[in-house]
Amino acid sequence: MPPPPLPAPVAAGRACPLCGHSEARALPAAVDEEGCLFPRRACASCGTAFLDPAPTPAQLDRAYAASYYGTRSTKFPAPIERLREAAAAGRARRLLAGLPTDARILDVGCGDGRLLRLLGQRAPATELHGIELPGPAADRAAAVPGIHLHRGTLDDATYPEAHFDLICLVHVLEHLPAPGASLPRLARLLRPGGRLLLSFPNIASLQTRAFGTAWF
Ligand SMILES: [Zn+2]
Repeated sequence: MPPPPLPAPVAAGRACPLCGHSEARALPAAVDEEGCLFPRRACASCGTAFLDPAPTPAQLDRAYAASYYGTRSTKFPAPIERLREAAAAGRARRLLAGLPTDARILDVGCGDGRLLRLLGQRAPATELHGIELPGPAADRAAAVPGIHLHRGTLDDATYPEAHFDLICLVHVLEHLPAPGASLPRLARLLRPGGRLLLSFPNIASLQTRAFGTAWF
């Protein structure tokens, strides 16, 4: 059976946060853990999916409350944590290829510091920096050996320019209030030839199609 036709693009309530286009197609609403609905649209020009209307500051505060990272010692049940650990270990191995042994690395939105911990275990001479908002995740990150943790945001962190060999934002840029505005700052923090890793949830992924609105 052929896939259903895409809904016609309509004027969105907000412009596409990536390209600024004003028309978008409706997507099924996202549902949070409390059953609240968040209407979504996909940009008719670049395909980026976004919440429309944008969540209010109060909704964001609730979404990012302690439940986001959990108050347990880990965020997820053990089998899922093992999968996350294996995925992060593979990412750490790939990231270190070609980096100087004493590379300076910054993980923006480092969560509980898992990636930095794995990088430090494989490359003990690296200098590890993390940024995370104050809370349970930052408390766990602070326990990672050798980590220099900034409890706050990229905007209020004070790093020298041209400082880092590698900056990582793993499922982080899309959480920032003005993602595009953060890129020039990240570029300035990288030394010439340094690397920026940006990773995003993929709304066209197999996982998304399998789990629909309950997509992880
Ligand atoms: Zn767009």
